[in-house]
Amino acid sequence: MSNELKRAVLHFLSYVDIEGPDDCWEWVGSKAQNGYGLYSGKPHGVERSMSAHRRSYELFIGPIPEDMYVLHQCDNRGCVNPAHLVEGTQARNMREAMERRRVFTRLPNETVLAIYNDPRDNIAEIARAYDVTYSHAWNIRNRRKRIHVTKKRRLAKHMT
Ligand SMILES: [Zn+2]
Repeated sequence: MSNELKRAVLHFLSYVDIEGPDDCWEWVGSKAQNGYGLYSGKPHGVERSMSAHRRSYELFIGPIPEDMYVLHQCDNRGCVNPAHLVEGTQARNMREAMERRRVFTRLPNETVLAIYNDPRDNIAEIARAYDVTYSHAWNIRNRRKRIHVTKKRRLAKHMT
């Protein structure tokens, strides 16, 4: 590693809360309003600022091809862990964010209760009705998931 690159890496890392190799490394320097870290320095010999995660990619992975985005696989915009960064297109960025939202969005408690109390016995039918996966519906029905929701309701009923 050249001295220049070493200096650049050290300067960059002085703004990073480094955690384990698989964890998010939070940028502790300034951040843009949209949550992305802002790196200010002389990335290419010229004083300027750029996205911290893009700078991380350049320093630890390599040059970013023109017109390519650096995407967060972890969905954490403030993260600069190079292991969480991947290059890609904006279209891919949006598609992936949407898929993750769908997977991680929690069902509202009312929906969980409605699924739990649905009079139908056919799980597949229930799953379709509430737009959830079969296994998700099955887990709620069999109280393998979101147990606190159905438990709270039972307790409330018992007390009245
Ligand atoms: Zn991350």
